[in-house]
Amino acid sequence: MIHVEDLHKSFGSNEVLRGINEEIFKGEVVTVIGPSGSGKSTFLRCLNRLEEPTGGRIIFEGNDICAPGADINLLRQKMGMVFQQFNLFNHLTILQNITIGPTMVRKESQEEAEARAMKLLERVGLADKAQEYPSRLSGGQKQRIAIVRALAMNPDVMLFDEPTSALDPEMVGEVLGVMKSLAEEGITMVVVTHEMGFAQKVGTRVLFMDGGQILEQGPPQQLFTAPRHPRTQDFLSKVL
Ligand code: ADP
Ligand code: MG
Repeated sequence: MIHVEDLHKSFGSNEVLRGINEEIFKGEVVTVIGPSGSGKSTFLRCLNRLEEPTGGRIIFEGNDICAPGADINLLRQKMGMVFQQFNLFNHLTILQNITIGPTMVRKESQEEAEARAMKLLERVGLADKAQEYPSRLSGGQKQRIAIVRALAMNPDVMLFDEPTSALDPEMVGEVLGVMKSLAEEGITMVVVTHEMGFAQKVGTRVLFMDGGQILEQGPPQQLFTAPRHPRTQDFLSKVL
């Protein structure tokens, strides 16, 4: 589904991604772990061109996303993204937050978009919040809405950038629970996370990033119990 070839990204003289090669297949739940500043967010943001790569290639569903004339809007529709800070539109109701993309971009009718939004809201247990504004919601509820908003676009893959890092501890579980149910449904996911439990139990593959490279990757059982690279060993010894 996503083919990444020798991906490089620099901010000025700061080389943040130093040659990433990766293949993400349909149905995988790939988790990305690694120390702060290792380039995890930048990697994720390059996948849907929130950042412009400075070198290499990204092929998504057969299309080079950096080719001149690449359809960025279509790309972002097909790659749903959930951020640490929710990024909801605070002046819109929850229902409007969810239907704005489908009606404006996908040209769905308001009725169609609302019906689908309500189904998704029921699924995450927040149907009663449809007419509320984001300011009335807890962090955990906001993040579940952000997930629903991304799902409403019918994406082929969901990208998550530390979706639980800004939450109070008691709200982490409700968001991870929604993500786990998506994983069980077979939705392709790439998840940057500090939640090692999630990476171990829900992830199908783990990538360990350090210094702008993927130093090691493998199935969770292998990577968490028998990491090969000394840097992976060192990182895991601090977080597990
Ligand atoms: P991580 O998500 O693993 O913590 P990031 O991808 O956010 O790492 O950041 C990697 C490096 O890139 C850091 O040194 C950070 O300061 C730098 N960086 C990230 N985004 C920008 C930006 N927009 N402009 C300049 N430097 C950036
Ligand atoms: Mg980050």
